Amino acid sequence: MMAFSTQAVFRDDAYLRETEATVVGVNDRGGIILDRTIFYATSGGQPGDTGLLTRGDGSNISVAATITGETKDEIIHVPGLEQAVPEIGERLKLSIDWPRRHLLMRMHAACHLLTVVCPYPITGASVSEEDSRVDFDIPDAGFTKEDVTSQMMELVRANHPIYNRWISDDELAANPTLVKSKNVRPPSGTGKIRLVCIGDNASIDSQPCGGTHVAGTAEIGEIHIGKIEKKGRENRRFRIRFGAMPSN
Ligand SMILES: [Zn+2]
Repeated sequence: MMAFSTQAVFRDDAYLRETEATVVGVNDRGGIILDRTIFYATSGGQPGDTGLLTRGDGSNISVAATITGETKDEIIHVPGLEQAVPEIGERLKLSIDWPRRHLLMRMHAACHLLTVVCPYPITGASVSEEDSRVDFDIPDAGFTKEDVTSQMMELVRANHPIYNRWISDDELAANPTLVKSKNVRPPSGTGKIRLVCIGDNASIDSQPCGGTHVAGTAEIGEIHIGKIEKKGRENRRFRIRFGAMPSN
């Protein structure tokens, strides 16, 4: 099957919870491809959305996962077990599991703050509703959970704006320090790259990222570093959790 290019509405508006779209394909494993979507597809350490596709007769097709297909531009809505299969050309109402997505947006933004507090090359990251991790190439620089937490919470309380800015491949090539990730290169060759900026005039941070984030740091809410684990001679894994740091 030819790969489709889905309009990724979440990239411009992470807060859109509902919209409508047209079915353009159903792959041989039952994956549903739409002309446009608000369902984020798993990538960059952020899991894909779950939710519902509502048909004209009011019945629902539940979406258990969202992934990319043969190309990054093709977004596939993976139905749960025993769901109806829509027709090509059918119009559907889309609704994402918003409480889950909002947790992921808060967590993802928190990961960005962690990379501001710990400005070291990133070797991996994974966002989830309860617990997120970021791995850094970092010598034992004497970070403590308490210090990192209080610096992150300072950024949260300052309520810095978080917004996107599109730049060209050439601009990115001219500013190689924008890329913090050591192993993952941002997609280039498409002509434009999305920078996620924090603070007025990106005064706090900017880095290429395709994920979904809250619009201001205060919306992240209370977070803390649950653990700093040693993952090799120069690798440290930081775990971010919601809520206040447990006192013990
Ligand atoms: Zn991000």
